[in-house]
Amino acid sequence: VIEIKGLHKAYGPLEVLKGISLSAPRGHVLSLIGSSGSGKSTLLRCCNLLEDSQQGDVIFEGEPVRWKGDGAARRPADRAQVTRFRTNLSMVFQQFNLWAHMTILQNVMEAPCTVLGQPAAEVEARARKLLDKVGIGDKADAWPAQLSGGQQQRAAIARALCMEPRALLFDEPTSALDPELQQEVVKVIKDLAGEHRTMLLVTHDMRLAADVSDHVVFLHKGLVEEEGPPAQIFGNPQTERLRQFLSASM
Ligand code: ATP
Ligand code: MG
Repeated sequence: VIEIKGLHKAYGPLEVLKGISLSAPRGHVLSLIGSSGSGKSTLLRCCNLLEDSQQGDVIFEGEPVRWKGDGAARRPADRAQVTRFRTNLSMVFQQFNLWAHMTILQNVMEAPCTVLGQPAAEVEARARKLLDKVGIGDKADAWPAQLSGGQQQRAAIARALCMEPRALLFDEPTSALDPELQQEVVKVIKDLAGEHRTMLLVTHDMRLAADVSDHVVFLHKGLVEEEGPPAQIFGNPQTERLRQFLSASM
């Protein structure tokens, strides 16, 4: 579903991604691990075009992004294509980012109604089902501030799912939560993996990555240092850097 080829990204003089390639086939869970500052969030944001990149390809369902300009001036050429990427690659952030002035149900319904222009009744029925699915059906009319962190993150996952995306992008979905609340969110992510949803997951939770991933990519300083199935990455790491990283994070 998602493919990245030779991607380069810099913030001014700071080279953050130095030629990254990866692919997440349909139904697969691909996890990105690596130290703070290695470029994981940046890479995720390049996938759904929240960030520009200077070189390399971003391909969604076989469709490469069309660019205009070169290097630092490179931008997507086609707004409709950008919207297609964004709506099909739904993102869940560490800090939930729910709209405080909307109820949980309104949060979940907002984008399908406004971005996709779907009829409210249809969206509402789907939104309520999704809230049930993530275990907070009774919170539909509550405000975000009335929910625990774990409940807010599950609402954010329902919101991403309500777009009926082709893939979900998670950026450290459990990092802002207390350990006992993390498990509620982990359960939802595991359920989604069990349904063979295509997912890109950035996480510091090595156990979660080991449990749900089909493939794990270890980033180090803007490059893929090692990648493979979770059994190799966590059970038989090949590089010294990955061994060091794992011993510091497990
Ligand atoms: P973490 O695990 O802490 O979330 P990360 O692997 O997600 O780290 P990124 O957020 O992708 O790392 O950042 C990679 C590098 O890019 C860092 O050195 C960071 O300071 C830099 N960076 C990220 N966003 C920006 C920005 N908007 N402007 C300038 N530099 C940035
Ligand atoms: Mg990050």
